[in-house]
This record gives sequence, C-alpha cells and structure tokens, in this order.
Amino acid sequence: MNRKVRHMKRQWIIIAGVLTLTACSNDFLSGQQPPTSTPSAESQKKVDVKDQPVFETVTEEIGEDGLVIVGDPESVEVVVNKERKLPEGYIPPDLRVPDVSFSFDEDHPKKQMRAEAAGALERLFKAAEAQGIELVAASGYRSYERQKSIYERNVEVYGEEETNTFSAKPGTSEHQTGLAMDVTSAAMAFRLDQSFIDTPEGSWLADNAHQYGFVIRYPEGKTDITGYTYEPWHLRYVGKETAIEVYKQESTLEEFFGHHPS
Ligand SMILES: [Zn+2]
Repeated sequence: MNRKVRHMKRQWIIIAGVLTLTACSNDFLSGQQPPTSTPSAESQKKVDVKDQPVFETVTEEIGEDGLVIVGDPESVEVVVNKERKLPEGYIPPDLRVPDVSFSFDEDHPKKQMRAEAAGALERLFKAAEAQGIELVAASGYRSYERQKSIYERNVEVYGEEETNTFSAKPGTSEHQTGLAMDVTSAAMAFRLDQSFIDTPEGSWLADNAHQYGFVIRYPEGKTDITGYTYEPWHLRYVGKETAIEVYKQESTLEEFFGHHPS
C-alpha cells in the first residue's frame, strides 16, 4: 500500500469512527493508538464497521491518472465510478447470457452478465411478466475496449466535458463489471430515456428491483454523488440484502459504502 492510500484510509477510519459514534471507536478518537506505525490486527478489527465492508480487508491503489483502482473487482459489492476504476484488462470470470427478452436478436457480448446477476435478472423479469409488465434487456456487459471506442466516439461528437456527464471513461463503466443491465420496453421503442419512469414498466422496476438484488444505480437528484444524471433504466446487481437496504435508505452505492466522490 503506498503512503497516500494509507493516509486516505486513515482519514476514512477516523471519519467512520465519528459517523458511527459507537463505543468501539473511542480508542481512535482519544488517540490511544498502538505504539507501532502500522495498525495491529486488533486495531484493524475495531474499524470493521458494519455496512462499510470496504474497511475490512481491501487494499486499493491509486493509478497514474489519480483514479483509485478497485481492489475487489469480482465482488458483487464493488463500487465503480468516475473516481474508482477496474484494474486494466479486467474481465469478469463467469459471464453468461440471461434467459430474458432482449431489444435485439443477434448474438452480442453485451447480452452477458455475471452468472449470479443473470439468474437474478431472470427472476426479476419473470416476476414482472407475471404482473403484466414486459421488460426488455438492452445492454449488459461491456468490455474495456468497447467502452473505449464508445467514449472516444462521444468525445468526437460532444466534446470531452459534455461526454463526461453521460459516458464513462474506459475502466470506469459499471457495465464492465458484468453486474449492470440497461432495461427498457417496447412502449419506449427500446430507447433508454428518463421518460421510462413515467411508464408502467419503469415504475414497476423502481418499486421492485431491490427485491431481486438490483438497485437503480443513478437515482434522481443524486448526480452530485454518483456523477451521473438520472438513469431509471440502469440496473446494478448488488445482492438482495444490500439492494433492500439501499432502497430503504433512498441511498446510492457511494453513500452506502462510504465512497463519496470528492
Ligand atoms: Zn447503463
């Protein structure tokens, strides 16, 4: 771990202590640290704050571009955003095509998701169908190379500043985790648009996705935190327990896991 990261982690540990205000954080606040310069196993255990799994064991490094390289790319709880990127060349280990309706017929890598997320998406779509809601999957896994060409094409058309408000730099797209899927409907003519929330499909998704382990990753009014405008179509798998908590708290993954962009 380089010094900068250790320093950052230390700041987070102090912040976490202040936020939780539990008895176990008192040692840190009153400065009763172990005399050694590196935290002992015991003191690390004390910062094992519930709901903040990033503090447990994950070591993260800063890349040359100043972005954090996530230390747990295969975790379903990984947080990837404009400040936190996947390791270069990362390919999810267990991609498969979920058995759901897609907005196009041909084989394409973007039909894929991680196995656990794919199973959850199938259950979500089945539950929707049983209630007369016809969801259609549009775009899931996206490789580093594909994201790179999409980003560069957007920069050519819109310029870099505008592109950064809606398109992720290569390595920073959540679609590269294999845990995201953009969802639309025939009524939307398969477009990805904010008006999706005004349709029965979009509204059903917002109300029910968490029961199947998904969050609406870029909620309305949270642009300052997520870095993206409202995307009622972008589902992110995080597991049922986390998804239900995030939904109840009307939170974002950044807030939930303590990764506020600065
Ligand atoms: Zn998306």
